[in-house]
Amino acid sequence: MSVVTRIGRFAPSPTGPLHFGSLVSAVASFLDSKQSAGQWLLRMEDIDPPREVPGAASQILTQLEAHGLLWDKTVLYQSDRMDSYIDALDQLKNNGLVYPCQCNRQRIVRLGGVYDGQCRGLQLQDDNATLRLCLGDNTQIQWFDDQIMGRVEQNLHSDVGDFAVRRRDGLFSYQLAVVVDDEFQGITHIMRGSDLLDSTSRQIFLQQCLGYRQPEYAHLPVALNRDRQKLSKQNHAASLVTGRESVNLWTALAWLQQRPPLALQRLEVGEILNWARSHWQSQAIYPSMPTSAPEGY
Ligand code: GLU
Repeated sequence: MSVVTRIGRFAPSPTGPLHFGSLVSAVASFLDSKQSAGQWLLRMEDIDPPREVPGAASQILTQLEAHGLLWDKTVLYQSDRMDSYIDALDQLKNNGLVYPCQCNRQRIVRLGGVYDGQCRGLQLQDDNATLRLCLGDNTQIQWFDDQIMGRVEQNLHSDVGDFAVRRRDGLFSYQLAVVVDDEFQGITHIMRGSDLLDSTSRQIFLQQCLGYRQPEYAHLPVALNRDRQKLSKQNHAASLVTGRESVNLWTALAWLQQRPPLALQRLEVGEILNWARSHWQSQAIYPSMPTSAPEGY
């Protein structure tokens, strides 16, 4: 039996259907995992009900299948993983790394989003409080070598401050859930949009606090709309059109600088992905490559 050494993942939030930007992340992480006989896992990040759109999770799965992006194992739903987040939070609490914070949103905005640790050491009640991870008194400079962006450095103290692991409304933060699940799923390689680049240092810090392994990271340039905003569900990016899957895949490959031959557009999605898998060059993706989404997306 061969040992799988590379495990990648795609982790959409069900806040709307797939658009060109999310297709690019799915295609890139799929090819990056599959070209070396690895696994590609799917995780539905459905732990923020106020932001979710009914039906979006199943629509995303249908769209991935239609594009031939078939995942290994069963889909992991974060909404089924609450016990694991509670355990991780307990571990952090037992190590004295978490404290309740009663500061309101306006105060955090006034601080420019970088929390100053005012509630640290106050021993406030847990209920209806934000739980923050204490960075400690030393300056926390994190760096990592991103496979596309190169060396990335962030000073967690001056750029982020003690950050939330559980929100005031009781929901677990994206940062905590993503780290717990990347460890649980044994993810070795994370390829995702560079809109998440400045979350990565927080995630590495959390991995260190929890004694987890650190995956390799690669952040893709994000596709921008005409107003130079990231294509996102919040910015009303258009859903991928059903029936145009081959063209969508071809366009995503071209956007990822993989130079797919034009004739590929007329093939079935499986054949396009076979070509893409055997020609995949992650080195072709440059941090500075053009970021405008292609016409029509
Ligand atoms: N769920 C996140 C999103 O849809 C992505 C999380 C990740 O890839 O780490 O933006």
